[in-house]
Amino acid sequence: CGIVGYTGFQDAYEVVINGLRRLEYRGYDSAGIVLNRENSSFEVAKTKGKVDDLVAISENLAGKSHVGMGHTRWATHGVPSDRNSHPHLSNNGKIALVHNGIIENYDTIKIMLTEKGFTFKSETDTEVLVNLVQYFMDVDASLDFPTAVRYALNEVYGAYAITVMHDDYPGILVVARLGSPLAIGLGTNEYFIASDASPFVEFTKEAVYLEEGHMATISLEKGVDIRTIKDNEKIVPQVQELKL
Ligand code: GLU
Repeated sequence: CGIVGYTGFQDAYEVVINGLRRLEYRGYDSAGIVLNRENSSFEVAKTKGKVDDLVAISENLAGKSHVGMGHTRWATHGVPSDRNSHPHLSNNGKIALVHNGIIENYDTIKIMLTEKGFTFKSETDTEVLVNLVQYFMDVDASLDFPTAVRYALNEVYGAYAITVMHDDYPGILVVARLGSPLAIGLGTNEYFIASDASPFVEFTKEAVYLEEGHMATISLEKGVDIRTIKDNEKIVPQVQELKL
């Protein structure tokens, strides 16, 4: 199971697919990718199987975007299948999320969201979380995307590393971690996200390892803004020099 994300000037498809290959050693049963382009909706491809199977159905996405994220899944909730593969999109199609770990209280939240009219395409705990983010943005239209992610995370318990994208916020990646690792690679006019540094060491030697209970909003314009999930307290990033 692994996560790779990218925002910058390179072909996001290539960076993400190559990154997923570097994480294959962690074991997985499915793989998926989502790309974001300005003035266009998400491009998604996902499948049960290996990264090669993903490439077979998604090669047309190469060269299309500079922002994207990918996932290799180790199923915990719902069988390995195309539908249960990540990324998962919210009901309105505007939010995409990849997740490693487990949302323990997903069933209670799923009941609440179902009562509000949300529907679900998969059996995963993950699809509940992405719709919870949409729910917070629906009930308060003034809420910005990273804050909605923070609100949603304050409702769940379990273990997770996540990366989230919003169609109306092109170029922005929101990441968070509790119990599962996540590293941010700092390049020049580009940022990388990955479960460990191996997908991005060829591009940069500077990394920030996200700490427990922290989230980050990453964009080319504003850099890496790290906050505590609980209180939105600003954290000064501890940049590490990779010796790989
Ligand atoms: N719990 C999620 C699922 O079953 C994520 C599994 C993972 O860590 O890859 O889809």
